[in-house]
Amino acid sequence: MNNRSIIHVDMDAFYASVEERDNPSLKGKPIIVGGSLKNRGVVTTASYEARKYGVHSAMAIYKAKKLCPEGIFLPVNMAKYKEVSIEVHNIFKRYSRIIEPISIDEAFIDVTGKNPFFIAKNIKRDIKNELNLTASIGISVNKFLAKLASDLEKPDGFTVIRQEEAMEFLKPLPIRKLWGVGPKTEKELNRMGIYTIGDLQDYDIKVLVDRFGKKGRELSYFSKGIDNRPVEIDITTQSIGEEETFKEDISNVEILDHKLKEYSLNLSHKLELKGYLTKTITVKIKYEDFSTETRSSTLYIPTDDYLAIYNVSSSLLKNKFSFDKKVRLLGLTVSNFIYPNDPIQLSFHTK
Ligand SMILES: [Mg+2]
Repeated sequence: MNNRSIIHVDMDAFYASVEERDNPSLKGKPIIVGGSLKNRGVVTTASYEARKYGVHSAMAIYKAKKLCPEGIFLPVNMAKYKEVSIEVHNIFKRYSRIIEPISIDEAFIDVTGKNPFFIAKNIKRDIKNELNLTASIGISVNKFLAKLASDLEKPDGFTVIRQEEAMEFLKPLPIRKLWGVGPKTEKELNRMGIYTIGDLQDYDIKVLVDRFGKKGRELSYFSKGIDNRPVEIDITTQSIGEEETFKEDISNVEILDHKLKEYSLNLSHKLELKGYLTKTITVKIKYEDFSTETRSSTLYIPTDDYLAIYNVSSSLLKNKFSFDKKVRLLGLTVSNFIYPNDPIQLSFHTK
């Protein structure tokens, strides 16, 4: 776990920045993305211009409207932000296979053994040049410090916290800056006379463990800038699928084939976002009499490519199913994944 290089990337005012980029007439205006005024929605993202009026995320829209009447209020266009998120993720993938997305606009990247400064600069440059957006980047030896770093010089930040400066750097910060300290833990720590991370550094770890159990040990370690958690790709997902029950049963194979094209595109995007490659493709059909059949194909070369997924599924559809009954439901699933941490050659030896 020693000598790791971890990068944390956090897009700046992500939703608002995407909207501003896509509509230049909004440039420099206070943009507020969130739920509508009518349904008592809240602010999802406020542009930096809007933040000058005191508007921030999670604030009620009506309150934001009061603070900033000339604000541009826009609905949340999740489909668009997801697209951009995939583009950002594709940039990360050029530099590492070990990526842990923690939200639509934030991720950890483990670049241990490579030059983290060079990579981080390239990531920032690619995001700016190709997507016309800015990100704030933190570089350090673990996840906690990297995330703390990316927050220090927002927007468009680039901040490094070195292991040897971590203790001093953390000392004056309020304890709520520590990972895992919410309002409840903050209050409890305050009651113990702990207000800054420095107070926690000096505190007897045994007392903290007595009080908080396992978490007490973690808090003590974090306060000293120690965090051994790995950058984790999500390996809980075993399969990803798309399916649809049709309003009217379908007998035309070309229509079904067209559906597979749509599904393949979506699945390919999802695989790309997660950094997975699939080895097994399964087509499922439920007929009008509710009988269900599935057919699978296992690939020699794992893929996340849209056309590869589509071609295999299309051939399964056309060659492995009969169409003497109408189709009520069509599904497509990819599974048997190669995860980003796996050495890719393994796929050729395992079944
Ligand atoms: Mg962000």
